[in-house]
Amino acid sequence: MSEAFRNQSHQFEWVHKRLDTDQPFYSDIFLSTTSIKGKNVIQASVRDISGRKHNEDQIRQLATQDPLTGLVNRYVLSERIQHAVKVNQRSKKFGALLFIDLDQFKIINDTQGHQAGDALLQQVAERLPSCVRESDTVARFGGDEFAILLEELSTNELTAAAHAEFVGEKIVRALNRPYLINKREQTNTPSIGVALFSPESDADDILQQADIAMYQAKRSGRNTIRFFDPAMQKSIDLRVALEKDLKRALHDNEFELHYQLQVNHKQTPLGAEALLRWKHPTLGYIPPLDYISIAEESGLIVPIGHWVLETACKQLETWGNNPKTDQLVMAINVSAVQFNETSFVGSIFKAIKKYRIKPHLLKLELTESMLVENLETIIIKMTQLKDLGVSFSLDDFGTGYSSLQYLKKLPLDQLKIDQSFVRDLETNEQDRSIVQTIIAMAKGLQMEVIAEGVETQAQHQMLNDYGCLNYQGYLFARPLVISEFDDLIA
Ligand code: C2E
Ligand code: CA
Ligand code: CA
Repeated sequence: MSEAFRNQSHQFEWVHKRLDTDQPFYSDIFLSTTSIKGKNVIQASVRDISGRKHNEDQIRQLATQDPLTGLVNRYVLSERIQHAVKVNQRSKKFGALLFIDLDQFKIINDTQGHQAGDALLQQVAERLPSCVRESDTVARFGGDEFAILLEELSTNELTAAAHAEFVGEKIVRALNRPYLINKREQTNTPSIGVALFSPESDADDILQQADIAMYQAKRSGRNTIRFFDPAMQKSIDLRVALEKDLKRALHDNEFELHYQLQVNHKQTPLGAEALLRWKHPTLGYIPPLDYISIAEESGLIVPIGHWVLETACKQLETWGNNPKTDQLVMAINVSAVQFNETSFVGSIFKAIKKYRIKPHLLKLELTESMLVENLETIIIKMTQLKDLGVSFSLDDFGTGYSSLQYLKKLPLDQLKIDQSFVRDLETNEQDRSIVQTIIAMAKGLQMEVIAEGVETQAQHQMLNDYGCLNYQGYLFARPLVISEFDDLIA
């Protein structure tokens, strides 16, 4: 009031209590001085601003909270990480960031609908806070990714790591418990990456490192925890360098195709699988597994895959001019990214025309993992290609997510038993059963079956006994340059 007398008016916000309900409400108070009959008096006007306050609260919540789960969002998380680093600088303690990604979330979302996906995310969000202290931050990072910030763990790095690991294991256990989705009990698993941060850490690096560690956890078979370590950073740096080199590899003609023989039980050559080789100018030959995933992530696989298609079809054309080779089938590997290009069917059609090849001599190898998304679109494309006369083999069969339901729907010609099952056929009872099951399944679905990675006579004999009559592997031939391959056939 003295303010009001001094300045003739004064405005402020105040929380009042309603007389009727006793509920508090926000008000805006405006005091002004005036004089009535020569006396200075104060006039107050009170305005109810509960509505505006409520809106402001909501806006604040939207900016900081994930609406689906009620957890804080990534922006709050980044702020808290930055703050945590500052606090650690004073306390000299280590903290940890746990990056959690749900395994196979996409499958639930795609096969059971977004509501099921949302239900899973909400249940995960309910379980996470119980694994940590109240002062720790649990955030939804986006999609099926969550993050947990553990602050001020210990001044000792090992102790801090042990604590983070303990929390990580608690989370794994919590998220392994069944979920109730669509009135059914369902299970899901997390992959967790952990980045410890020291008082010297840079806030931006911490998130990236936890993310990298999470990918490492995925690669180690999922449902597990991995810590970021600098050696991993080295391999990331190598990846970045390789991606740069890959960009000019096509232009500089550094790719080659090698051909690996496929035979039947009479050792008759049936054809070859074309395998990509990159001859790096300074590093020499680099195995495809070291760069295919880089090419896929960067999209470079599309032009590279196109080069493979052109080169293989050109080779088929050459083989077509020789009665010794004019029946050979060429199998080429196709990545999901490449297959999903809208121009894919057209590019196969053009290559067939351009090199005047018999379409049934061209076989496309697809992997199970690429059949998870957009099954309907995939079936349409496959059917268009089948109509052209091209055939399909399902590569690495048995290693991915296979449902008999979709196997039945796909116009496949062949299942390719993954080499991991062939490798231990002689010693591993389980692998023997898997191989027998795949062979029976192929028969039931009226598909051919071929085994890859056949290295020993004993493996060959067992496969033969089980009824698998097509083979590929070092026992018959290694992947060869074209001159060697042609010599072999001759
Ligand atoms: P994949 O399609 O499963 O190819 C079979 C791999 O097994 C090849 O490795 C081959 O050299 C190897 N292999 C063949 N026989 C044997 C054997 O008896 N024992 C053992 N231990 N290995 C054997 P490679 O050439 O390193 O290729 C690795 C993967 O790279 C391929 O696996 C395929 O997924 C991918 N890839 C290769 N070429 C291409 C391509 O042109 N395009 C795309 N998208 N991917 C390709
Ligand atoms: Ca293959
Ligand atoms: Ca394979």
